[in-house]
Amino acid sequence: MLAVLIIAVVLLIWNGSTFFRQISAVGADLGREARTASIALTLNVALILFGWRQYVDLQHEAERRADGERRAAVLASTDSHSGLLNRKGFADRAQVLAERACRLGLDLAIISIQINRFKSINERHGYDVGDSLLRSIAAAMTEALGEGAEIARLSGDEFAVALAVDPEKPGDAEHSAEAAMHAVTTVFTIDDRVIQVGAFAGIAWAPAVDVRIPDLLRRADIAMEHAKSGRSARPVWFDAGMERALIAHGEIEQGIRYGLEHDQFVPFFEPQLDLETGEIVGFEVLARWIHPLSGTIQPDVFIPVAEELGLIGRLSEKVIADALAQAVDWDPKVKISVNISPIQLTDAWLAQRIVRLLTETGFPADRLVVEITESSLVTDIDLARSIVTSLKNQGVRLALDDFGTGFSSLSHLRSLPFDVIKIDRSFVANIHSNRESVAIVRAVTTLASALNVPVCVEGIESEAAHAAVLGLGCAVGQGWYFGKPMPGEQAAEMLVQRGHQEPQAPRTAAAG
Ligand code: C2E
Ligand code: MG
Ligand code: MG
Repeated sequence: MLAVLIIAVVLLIWNGSTFFRQISAVGADLGREARTASIALTLNVALILFGWRQYVDLQHEAERRADGERRAAVLASTDSHSGLLNRKGFADRAQVLAERACRLGLDLAIISIQINRFKSINERHGYDVGDSLLRSIAAAMTEALGEGAEIARLSGDEFAVALAVDPEKPGDAEHSAEAAMHAVTTVFTIDDRVIQVGAFAGIAWAPAVDVRIPDLLRRADIAMEHAKSGRSARPVWFDAGMERALIAHGEIEQGIRYGLEHDQFVPFFEPQLDLETGEIVGFEVLARWIHPLSGTIQPDVFIPVAEELGLIGRLSEKVIADALAQAVDWDPKVKISVNISPIQLTDAWLAQRIVRLLTETGFPADRLVVEITESSLVTDIDLARSIVTSLKNQGVRLALDDFGTGFSSLSHLRSLPFDVIKIDRSFVANIHSNRESVAIVRAVTTLASALNVPVCVEGIESEAAHAAVLGLGCAVGQGWYFGKPMPGEQAAEMLVQRGHQEPQAPRTAAAG
């Protein structure tokens, strides 16, 4: 552009000087020459103006582009719902903050915050209210934490804050975490609805000189997960033990895969009794991991990890196949209950798999009870219904496990044709001393009897509990008072001792 201007000015000067030279040299032709010269001058001025205009337009265009690029950069690093930084923006800005903190001899703290049950706000009030809530939380956090903090929304319900902190004053980071939690848990009024959510927070801290933002954020997340699992109302500091526990989790993952290949998952059997007569009417199959180094591992350690790994179907089927193969020759009056986790009920082929296990082991379908929990009915009730209907058509019975703990919705009771309702053991643990537990067990028993569905009570640990649930009209129960989960041979022996029909000669199960 500058070149155009220079050329235009040179032309003007050259033409202008020609013009004046012509005036002095040729007086007679003044009229004609002057006209020519003035046309040239006008053309030159027009050229300059045109050039200038081009220059200004180009200047504007350059500014517009720079502005667009700036806006694109802001958008790429901003969360559109809350107006806070997004994950990328947070990583960049926290890095800049760390460099500044390093120059000032400060440390860097990252706070990870999660809203408790944000999903249920969206489900109950709709996504518009959820979005408004996010904006309100973002504004409250920005106000509470002030200018020095970098605040981000990392995903649906996760926030992060980066702060430069004085190494001598760790309390400052904790105060900021508390302020952030306080901001999240403010009572907001959105569309005339009063909304308040809970929050969990974790804090991780490192010298700014050698900090890696992703590592520090991961540690803050680990601490936050601890806060969440401990239902802590206060921020939790990261410590190295938490990371070690996670590594152990990684070892469980490896172990499960190895254990599945090497038959380390086996069925244990917990007796279920007629509470009136004391007769064994069934066994619940409970998976155990027989670990070569750690001994017998309970399912609460490995079932959640197997679910995360997508291995729960394989694991459960292996345990069920072994259980059916062992129990096929026991007294035919004795039922076998197996647990199906919610994830398994999202497998459209589950019914076929179970029927295949029945065929392979020769186990009669009407001796099998499948236990599902209410949470299974929330994910995809239609699929659950179709699986259950296929199984029931084969003669398999259906139990609603852990009733009273989850949603305890009456509609769930009616949504599928349950043959048994299992009352969760938490109501039985202190039934002889707790009036509320008595009221709940009585209410469920009355309801079940009105629906014509028998109940089975879990967790009977004492004679007093046995007497209490019997008095409340429960027909069947299980618990350590009658027998802890035991290996198949022991369960078979128990049956014989109680006068049940002796097992026939063992058959070879085709199931693997
Ligand atoms: P659940 O189906 O509710 O099983 C009952 C749990 O209560 C078992 O825990 C049992 O050992 C425990 N229990 C029974 N009687 C008493 C008692 O008197 N007192 C106390 N304190 N506890 C008692 P376990 O074996 O740890 O199983 C936990 C859960 O793991 C089971 O809960 C079930 O949901 C799941 N699970 C177990 N085996 C399998 C499996 O093969 N597949 C699937 N998908 N889930 C399984
Ligand atoms: Mg169960
Ligand atoms: Mg249960």
